[in-house]
Amino acid sequence: MTAQTVWDNCLSFIQDNITPQAYKTWFEPIRAVKLTDNALSIQVPSKFFYEWLEEHYVKLLKVSLTKELGEHAKLVYVIRMENTYGNRQPFTEKIPSTNRSNKMKSQEVDAPFKNKNPELKNPFVIPGIRNLEIESQLNPNYNFDNFLEGDSNRLARSAGMAVANKPGGTSFNPLLIFGGVGLGKTHLAHAIGVQIKDRYPDKTVLYISAEKFTQQYIESVKKNNRNDFIHFYQVIDVLIVDDIQLLSGKAGTQDVFFHIFNHLHQNGKQVVLTSDKAPVDMQDIEQRLLSRFKWGLSAELQQPGFETRVSIIKNKLYQDGVEMPEDIVEFLANNIKTNIRELEGAIISLIAHSSFNKKEINLELAKKIVDNYVKHTKREVSIDYIQKVVSDYFQMDVDTLQSKTRKRHIVQARQLAMFFAKKLTKASLASIGSQIGKRDHATVLHACKTVDNLSTTDKQFKKYVEDLNKKLTM
Ligand code: ADP
Ligand code: MG
Repeated sequence: MTAQTVWDNCLSFIQDNITPQAYKTWFEPIRAVKLTDNALSIQVPSKFFYEWLEEHYVKLLKVSLTKELGEHAKLVYVIRMENTYGNRQPFTEKIPSTNRSNKMKSQEVDAPFKNKNPELKNPFVIPGIRNLEIESQLNPNYNFDNFLEGDSNRLARSAGMAVANKPGGTSFNPLLIFGGVGLGKTHLAHAIGVQIKDRYPDKTVLYISAEKFTQQYIESVKKNNRNDFIHFYQVIDVLIVDDIQLLSGKAGTQDVFFHIFNHLHQNGKQVVLTSDKAPVDMQDIEQRLLSRFKWGLSAELQQPGFETRVSIIKNKLYQDGVEMPEDIVEFLANNIKTNIRELEGAIISLIAHSSFNKKEINLELAKKIVDNYVKHTKREVSIDYIQKVVSDYFQMDVDTLQSKTRKRHIVQARQLAMFFAKKLTKASLASIGSQIGKRDHATVLHACKTVDNLSTTDKQFKKYVEDLNKKLTM
């Protein structure tokens, strides 16, 4: 038995019990380093990483390790910051070993762009007006306080905070935030910058969209001051580039960004990027740039769950000083799911309609407005919704459905909810289990089989399945 084999066994157990993204983020970077008696030492890349594991995965780690090493099993963390910066180190050190090659070493040093001219030409400033101060271009309205936390954004939000507290000093460099339209990438990117400016007023922070970056670059080529452009970006402490996928197909801009990125990274400066796709799905972006994006952490912003949508709506209403009945808030949260910007749009237009027409905000008006927003998107059922419909059908509340009781009718209702969650959503067994009363994936699998069996052998049960199917899919 070696540290490696024990850890490999633990990993295969862990992998079965969490989402692929979480596995990739939190478990792939871990190295097993030592095994003595019943203690396994694992190496993690930062203190934050260790804290995160302890907070979120301690149970899973314990179960898996106990299975391997018996009930006295112990886990020892070795914290090793791999990305410690300093000019003494050759920067190719930071290339993950799989990507290491001599070719990279010789080609990718950005020395040719070192600018001997110390004067800073700021591309944000209209030529002729001298202004050496760099405006951060941050929007103070996008901050951490009003970026509500939920399961869908916890990883990205905490990583963002870690970066904001110690720019350049965590292993999340670059921090790449990715996710669909309207899920908060731009908001979070600003929040990081705003917090850094707050804590470290002397640091130069710059927020820029990839689109504007591209325009500035093209401009610099036209004016023949490409080196000034590069130099400007190389003196920034925290560079935040929004919608990096827009660099796709733009070879010149990618090249220049590559050199700026290397320079900043090599000097321990923080880079924050956002994208509407995961790095693996980005097209027409040079491989050497993609491999840089993967050096730090890629954190996904997922679609927010029902609870988070409700809090976002309530927070928005609170900020606008508007009151809205609970059933309307829930109606909105239930019907606009995939895009927080649309959710906000619906709230604004609801408020506007009601004040223009001097009508009170009621469900009828809400329905009309929501129809405008979701007309073109097919409604997808959520696990919350399935639990609600199943509980209503059996005249119990959702808490009862999720409870630990072994009473037959409650167990059946719960199994039906799991069955439909598997059938109608894309969620994994593990994720279904955790949302329906914190069960594990084996329980969900068992539930699906039971429902299959019962619906062929039990007439009454078959009717339950048909009724519920109708309610959920019509
Ligand atoms: P993206 O850049 O991903 O398209 P944005 O950052 O522009 O999305 O977010 C769209 C809107 O949703 C913004 O008004 C933002 O403030 C809001 N929003 C997104 N996520 C949250 C959140 N977690 N809490 C509060 N508001 C949010
Ligand atoms: Mg955006």
